[in-house]
Amino acid sequence: MAYEEVLAPAGSKVLMLGNAAIARGFLEAGVQFAAAYPGTPSTEIVEALSAAARMLGGKPYVEWSVNEKVALEAALGAAISGARAITAMKHVGLNVAADPFFSSAYIGVRGAFVVVSADDPWMHSSQNEQDNRWYGLHAYIPVVEPTGPQDAKEAAKLALKYSEKYRRPFLLRTTTRIAHTRIPVETDEIPVNELEPQGVFEKNPAKWTLVPQHARRMRIELLDFWDRVRRELADFPLNSVEYGGAIAVVGAGLGYRYAREAVKLLGLESEVTLFKLATTVPLPEPIADKILEHETIIVVEEGDPVVEIQLKTTAQERGAKARILGKHGKDTLLRRYGELTLDMVADALAKVTDREPPAWAVEKPEPPRTKIPPRPPVLCPGCPHRSLFYALRRAVNKLRIKPVYSGDIGCYSLGVLPPFEMQDTIICMGASIGAANGMVHVLKDPNSVLIAIIGDSTFYHAGIPPLINAVYNNAPMLVVVLDNRTTAMTGHQPHPGVGISALGTPATEIPIEEVARGVGVEKILVADAFNIRDAEQKLVEALKYVIEKRKPAVVVSRGACILLALSVARRAKVKPPVYYVDEEKCTACGICYTAFNCPAIRRRPDGKAMVDPALCTGCGVCAQVCPFGAFKPSQPPSEEWLKIMRTAKPA
Ligand code: SF4
Ligand code: SF4
Repeated sequence: MAYEEVLAPAGSKVLMLGNAAIARGFLEAGVQFAAAYPGTPSTEIVEALSAAARMLGGKPYVEWSVNEKVALEAALGAAISGARAITAMKHVGLNVAADPFFSSAYIGVRGAFVVVSADDPWMHSSQNEQDNRWYGLHAYIPVVEPTGPQDAKEAAKLALKYSEKYRRPFLLRTTTRIAHTRIPVETDEIPVNELEPQGVFEKNPAKWTLVPQHARRMRIELLDFWDRVRRELADFPLNSVEYGGAIAVVGAGLGYRYAREAVKLLGLESEVTLFKLATTVPLPEPIADKILEHETIIVVEEGDPVVEIQLKTTAQERGAKARILGKHGKDTLLRRYGELTLDMVADALAKVTDREPPAWAVEKPEPPRTKIPPRPPVLCPGCPHRSLFYALRRAVNKLRIKPVYSGDIGCYSLGVLPPFEMQDTIICMGASIGAANGMVHVLKDPNSVLIAIIGDSTFYHAGIPPLINAVYNNAPMLVVVLDNRTTAMTGHQPHPGVGISALGTPATEIPIEEVARGVGVEKILVADAFNIRDAEQKLVEALKYVIEKRKPAVVVSRGACILLALSVARRAKVKPPVYYVDEEKCTACGICYTAFNCPAIRRRPDGKAMVDPALCTGCGVCAQVCPFGAFKPSQPPSEEWLKIMRTAKPA
């Protein structure tokens, strides 16, 4: 099983993904409850905890929740009942969970509570870039940052322990580089007997209810805590000071690793005092005071100038004359977007210390001689979304309507690209239906039809409330739910529609169509995503309903993510067919490689089509697309394979 290393015996040194190391840190701190919604770059933390729970007979308790807000609320509920609880999410997930996050600072916990925010500088897999340390400052929740992949495990462990000490939530902020680096981790003891939650809820309305009368008192207590923690976090074990030179270099979080490396490269050991800072919010006062004893201070941090601004504020309070350089103000040394790099930091330190930057830091590497062709992201060969987009375009053309495609976050956002170009807006999770609620009431063209396209997991995450809104406010739109039986983009986690829990045990299945019926949608059709005729006919029927009745309708397009189907088939020893083109029948019309565009289908020099057998997944949709019956399977698709394509679910 994957993530076996997360339970490596104490005293070993094993290679772990940064996120698995964080999971290990939580286990060593005796975590008892974990809830999350998957989101890159945070997913593997709870995946590793779930693997640990499977191996340890269900402890700690681990769940995939329907969204980050629910996950945070669940973990907070466990923590106020005395459990050591964590939740993990990508940076934008904290926007979803912000409401209970702020409240958690007021009420505190009885056990321990850590929220992991995995930030994604330069947006490797996200819709925006944000530095969630601001959330810590805003909510009065202390932020701990690993100063590199090496101490990710320690930072997680200490965050949970400090949370337990203060009975307050802590935020553990990581970034992509830490999350997805493999590192040798030295393991300590896991208190296995403590992992099972023994929660007890002690009634105490004055503590747990945020009515104004209580919240006012709690606000004062929170500010007192903040003052205390500003002093006491100076002793956090991951904070330290190295060297003893005249210039202060503050390495905040991951910035410390780059700063340390740059100091060594430039031979600045005798000229700088290097502050390693793992508690970045609030900036511990005793540390700030020590930093401000220097005349020149360079702050190296990834993201926004969160530490730098706190330091400048303290400098102003103290009347310190220090020159503080970083990302804020007019003398900026480091850029305020994207990830830090070693040459960027080395260059900055060289500039301030009048050193020649290391040769490699200024000489840009020669461009590679071989030209790598650009490879834009595409829907996989055999993806059920591709056939649905194809069927939807046919339905729209048939009815001669002007569609407005309100898109969402997930694999299907690739529908924005040619040949489909069927995502006109992509804003955030659930905004497909949400934004359509607004657009539909203001668009004046009578031929405009709103088509909201959302994935299955995203539907449970944030699609249900805007669907209720659409029914309640009578917003005519077609909602297409692309149900590929899993949370595909983050690595095939289960969701409430598939009847499987995070531990792989049976769970109650909550079908999308039943949810839609329950919130009052009257027209609901379930289409077979791998059957273009069925999907097209149902989309036409639903669109006609929307146009004629001026009410919302839902089409659930069902067909397993082909990668999931292939792995289920492999385990069941079922062999999918491979398709080929009968060149006698192919007329070179080009429909299959232009309008349908399966990546396994290529254009031959003579314009006829061919299939790359290494890429073909055996979905069989090309045989429905070709008007001349040119696609043939290597062997007739078996009943088992056809069933797996339609019903596969995560293990
Ligand atoms: S759709 Fe059929 S006829 Fe047209 S190019 Fe493809 S295989 Fe050939
Ligand atoms: S070539 Fe045909 S059968 Fe193979 S993946 Fe593409 S559409 Fe599916």
